Amino acid sequence: MQFRDLKKQYNVLKEEMDRAMIEVAGSSQYINGPWVKELEAQLADYVGVKHCITCANGTDALSIAMMAWGIKEGDAVFVPDFTFFSSGEVVSLAGGTPVFVDVDKDTYNISAESLEKAILKVKEEGKLTPKAVVAVDLFGLPADFKTLRPIADKYGILILEDGAQGFGGEIDGRKACSFGDISTTSFFPAKPLGCYGDGGAVFTDDDEIAALAQSIRVHGKGTMKYDNVRIGLNSRLDSIQAAILQVKLKAFKDHELDDVNKVADKYTELLSEALGDKATLPIIPEGFISSWAQYTVRLKGRETRDSVQAALKEKGIPTMVYYPKPMHCQQAFGIEGDYEFDCSNTAELCDTVLSLPMHPYMTDEDIRTVVETLKEVL
Ligand SMILES: *Cc1c(COP(=O)(O)O)cnc(C)c1O
Repeated sequence: MQFRDLKKQYNVLKEEMDRAMIEVAGSSQYINGPWVKELEAQLADYVGVKHCITCANGTDALSIAMMAWGIKEGDAVFVPDFTFFSSGEVVSLAGGTPVFVDVDKDTYNISAESLEKAILKVKEEGKLTPKAVVAVDLFGLPADFKTLRPIADKYGILILEDGAQGFGGEIDGRKACSFGDISTTSFFPAKPLGCYGDGGAVFTDDDEIAALAQSIRVHGKGTMKYDNVRIGLNSRLDSIQAAILQVKLKAFKDHELDDVNKVADKYTELLSEALGDKATLPIIPEGFISSWAQYTVRLKGRETRDSVQAALKEKGIPTMVYYPKPMHCQQAFGIEGDYEFDCSNTAELCDTVLSLPMHPYMTDEDIRTVVETLKEVL
């Protein structure tokens, strides 16, 4: 069994996919071909925002946001303690200070209450200026923007929605990647919408930010390519990836998002029957839709989790631990001693989470096999 079966997806989409890739190969427009602009229009339309600017990967998309906002030394950017490294890395790379904030234990997303406490503490200390929050749509579930937006507005900070895992999710009918002042996503192959290599995108309704992002991704270009008005990046999405993504976006809209939600429902139904209170299953709050980048359960402690994962591996069921370490414990950030912010939910999640095989092409039989095996090893 595959954790995320990209080969099966390719086999289903093969005819259309091969045609798309060969078309690009024969065109010789490998950089900035028409597929890139077409894709950007399709993505902006799907998400419901004015501008989509594609780029080389999801980490660059976050960096472009940091650069467009001019995040620099002395700026505090709040980041969930439970996320992928990139969400905080880009803050340090820009020269700012990531301030790690605990997450909600049920949704695994940044807690608005902990965010407000952290903002107040940073203001009181007076060393850093609160500038922005990176709200991550973890495992496919949009962060709770209904509670985050009033706090961001109250303290005058910007919201960067890191939708690398969240593309396709919704809150009250509004799509993920539309909630931030800037929102970003990643097209890394295993994400909800993935290409055949690296890719990413920036989304915004703000014309000025869109123009800045377009400049930053091409070496800070001015009116033309050889007029450079600011320091930027070399961060384009290849034509071939844009063509691949057009085929994938169609399948995503037509059936994949629905199919992956059916897999999640089936998992939840069978797991609650089979495991009772031995595992905590994911919770999707009222009005929210997840794009299920991961289906993540919680077990009773690190020892149980690690032994269950090893036993499943032995029986041919691949699982992943996202994430084994809180961000504030990552050596790269150089935070020493006790952390000044309470991140106890994150600590517990790092000890107990286990992500199960998950993708739109899982059959009922696959799901049953995972559930039965999990029941057996528990
Ligand atoms: C994958 C991921 C990224 C980075 O995306 P890349 O395309 O790999 O650079 C950023 N944030 C989160 C939450 C991610 O899961």
